[in-house]
Amino acid sequence: MQLINKKVLVVGLAKTGVACARFLASRGSRVTVTDMRDEAALSSQLAELEGCNIKKALGHHDENDFTSSDLIVVSPGVPQDHPLLVKGRNAGVEIVSEVELASRFIDAPLAAITGTNGKTTTTTLLGAIFKHNGYHTFVGGNIGNPLIEVAASHQIVDQVVAEISSFQLEWITSFRPQVAALLNLSEDHLDRYPDYQAYIDAKMRIFENQTEEDFAVVNRDDPLVWKSCQGLKARLFPFSRTLELEEGIFCRDGVITYRHDGHEECFPTAAIRLQGVHNQENIMAALACALLLGCRPDESFETVLCFESLHHRMEFVREVNGVGYYEDSKATNVGSVQKALESFDNITLIAGGKDKGGSYAPLASLVQSRVRHLILIGEAAERMQAELGALTDTVRAATLEDAVRLAAQVSAPGGTVLMSPACSSFDMFRDYEERAQRFIAAVMGL
Ligand code: ADP
Repeated sequence: MQLINKKVLVVGLAKTGVACARFLASRGSRVTVTDMRDEAALSSQLAELEGCNIKKALGHHDENDFTSSDLIVVSPGVPQDHPLLVKGRNAGVEIVSEVELASRFIDAPLAAITGTNGKTTTTTLLGAIFKHNGYHTFVGGNIGNPLIEVAASHQIVDQVVAEISSFQLEWITSFRPQVAALLNLSEDHLDRYPDYQAYIDAKMRIFENQTEEDFAVVNRDDPLVWKSCQGLKARLFPFSRTLELEEGIFCRDGVITYRHDGHEECFPTAAIRLQGVHNQENIMAALACALLLGCRPDESFETVLCFESLHHRMEFVREVNGVGYYEDSKATNVGSVQKALESFDNITLIAGGKDKGGSYAPLASLVQSRVRHLILIGEAAERMQAELGALTDTVRAATLEDAVRLAAQVSAPGGTVLMSPACSSFDMFRDYEERAQRFIAAVMGL
């Protein structure tokens, strides 16, 4: 792809926008960056662009930039139906996402992980497996550093492992992972998509440019994933916790078995540290991707054995008066909260936050059977109370600290206090990490 002298507009100046602008400028493009935030709000991003020859349209968008550029690079935070993007497209301007742009300049094989939940855990584990196998591995995408940094880097990279969100897939045309994994599907981001199907369609695009030489590692036990993946061009490589598979990877009776082209590898699970059935799925997906791309089984499984849970994902905080306190601040949708509720009994659940538009009804049966007390916080509290409040003892709390105090009062020894919000955090906190830290501080103060 020729970039010299191209007029390129970068829309959105978060981390990926900055990285794209720097890359494009270094390749000789005439770059304009635009963001609705003004210079003061973007001071740290602008500092990173110092010394680059880049035009700026900040605090506003200039329609002319959208219609007269040769190329628009869109950040994942910008909705696909933004009126100016529509105008740009109607004017015949090529529009790409950052991962699309990056993939045009990356020679190394690409393993891409998507799904509603488990992406970061699986991507991080897979990256660790490749590193332990001796690959110069770049791990990034939706976590850590944007993919464009591989293209911009002068270092050798012989394997790329990318976490990919639905937003990043919205503007792809040739992005083609050699192995792509779809971990699961459940309702999420319905504040951004018109309906659930539109979200699923966006996720499925990860397979769009694969050929029969590539692999699609998919969850055989998730009916929606399995149905959606019928008819893919890539070779299907399922993973399952329930079925024995002739081709694929499955877990039964404490053993993970990998079967591919008549070859079999077996891994006993007893010494694995990552807990929970959902993590078994993440492990199988990561192992499948690694082995399909040539990693050695022994080194790969050694990595699995050493791998510990990432922070803020069903993390134990402490025990107080016989009650265990867990924080699961990264659980921002109903799918992840379901897995958390399946992991405990006798639960005092602290949930709520910024509503993402989906239904909380999928939690109903687990709330009824396992949640003794439901304590709701944040903007979503009202709707969660309406959908779940009749199923168990439910109260609302003004702050997270109040919620923790209330939880301590009502929970009996042997029980679990779990903060697993099913919502994003932005109504009350900077991000999910701040929410986690505030919960931990409140629990430590009990
Ligand atoms: P993502 O990057 O997709 O948000 P994470 O690995 O960060 O995924 O985990 C986010 C939340 O989802 C955590 O609450 C975690 O416990 C839960 N989770 C992790 N893996 C899975 C899975 N395979 N299925 C359902 N929930 C999961």
